[in-house]
Amino acid sequence: MTNHIPEIGNWVDGLETRPEGNRWLDRCNPHSGELLYRVADSSARDAQDAIAAAGAAFPGWAELTPVKRGQVLFEIVAGMRRRADELAECIAVETGKPPQDAKGEVAGAILQGEYFAGEGMRLHGRSLTSGTPGKYSHTVRQPRGIAGLIVPANTPIANIAWKTFPALVCGNTVVLKAAEDAPRIALLFAQLGKEAGLPDGVLNVIQGCGQPAGAELVTNPRVAVISFTGSTGVGRWIAEVAGRRLARVSLELGGKNPLVVCDDADLEQAVHWAALSAFSNAGQRCAAGSRLIVFSSVYDAFRERLVAKAGSLRLGVTAGCDLGPVMNHGQQQSILAAIAMARAEGGRVLCGGGVPCEAELASGYYVQPTVVEGLDVRAQLSCQEVFGPVATLYSVESMSEALDLANASEYGLTAAIHTRSVDRAMWFAQRVRAGVANVNAGTFGSEPHMPFGGFGASGNGTREPGIEALDVYSELKNISFLVRQGEI
Ligand code: NAD
Repeated sequence: MTNHIPEIGNWVDGLETRPEGNRWLDRCNPHSGELLYRVADSSARDAQDAIAAAGAAFPGWAELTPVKRGQVLFEIVAGMRRRADELAECIAVETGKPPQDAKGEVAGAILQGEYFAGEGMRLHGRSLTSGTPGKYSHTVRQPRGIAGLIVPANTPIANIAWKTFPALVCGNTVVLKAAEDAPRIALLFAQLGKEAGLPDGVLNVIQGCGQPAGAELVTNPRVAVISFTGSTGVGRWIAEVAGRRLARVSLELGGKNPLVVCDDADLEQAVHWAALSAFSNAGQRCAAGSRLIVFSSVYDAFRERLVAKAGSLRLGVTAGCDLGPVMNHGQQQSILAAIAMARAEGGRVLCGGGVPCEAELASGYYVQPTVVEGLDVRAQLSCQEVFGPVATLYSVESMSEALDLANASEYGLTAAIHTRSVDRAMWFAQRVRAGVANVNAGTFGSEPHMPFGGFGASGNGTREPGIEALDVYSELKNISFLVRQGEI
């Protein structure tokens, strides 16, 4: 008897649909390597069907008042809350996250939904003065049209909520390109939308590969705004192609984020946050702290504690484990190759550096928490994001050397500094080239009302979420009245 393997289809116009040509991709469980589902391997035509559904639904959705749209979004949030355990379990299985992390992610997505549902009551513009007597001006926000939203799998429900809620409250209709490695959570979210009263066609989901399914959203002239979270290489291509047709593009890309530990830092706290920044979510965060820059006088003490901490972390998918596997076999192999390259470039691997030896983890896509020292700043691992549980250590003599090293990256997403000095903290936070700067905390930790995004190769200057996301998903219109002067 063969086991039934579930099929995860697309979601178009309020229904789960099969891909053109009945083509499917295999998704394996990252913890066990076993086949988990077959996922729709969507064609450009499948994406066009979703775009057509979103186009047909647009006038009706855009016509609702923002307050009414916000009320529908509040219903989705209520459904997410009711089914939070189911959502968390789905995420835990398909991404290999320990259950407490999956639950935390769902809670974050719910907050995100609440925040943007509330924006329905705050989608205001400005009232302006004029140089012309009797002229009254104000601005309003209007939807752009069809939003193509493209997400990765690392924090899947958070990524989905991050983009869909602001896009919808602004009155756009959506085609969401789900991540290949987290397809079912996107389908569950779309089903929740329908149950909550979202009209058919307002939120559609396309599964499958970046090419051709995601690329169709980038090239199709009907898609007015593209919001992409993913790798810098793909982001560059999207900026180029969508830029040619003047589509609005928001890019949330990679990071190689520095965490500075000063000689006056609370070392225990610094080690705690460095380990979380580098290794939680198996290092699969754009905001991972992958470059640890430590003052020479505390370098040995910090290194000893960090290596001990890394060695104590529990790998696995059961409650209380610190990190699970990485997303897929290809990702595991590319992380191991990056570590091998670091060795070849003179790096010393202080801990980890390979796959764990426990038998129960042997079939999964695990990588041990790894700390490397002795690398040149131009070494590959110093410069390139690996998207895995790997951190490099550097020793510096001064604040200015720490800052120069922190800024010696093409990326500029997040940064952190550990110090007891307010002067040092402010000096660094003002000068570091990053969209987020945290003091005595980790390199991650954004909240729904805080703008997130990066300098340089980490993005194209947009910020999501926060109210800044409304600028991505709406078009500003200035309306003026000229009223008759004098007696009426
Ligand atoms: P990826 O770029 O390979 O894929 C991301 C998504 O884009 C997937 O859904 C994929 O199918 C799609 N895609 C791939 N090629 C495409 C194309 N040509 N056209 C349209 N869509 C395409 O990234 P990944 O490996 O899945 O995710 C990891 C990357 O995401 C890392 O670089 C990480 O730093 C970044 N990331 C950034 C943020 C942020 O907010 N800045 C957050 C999470 C992850």
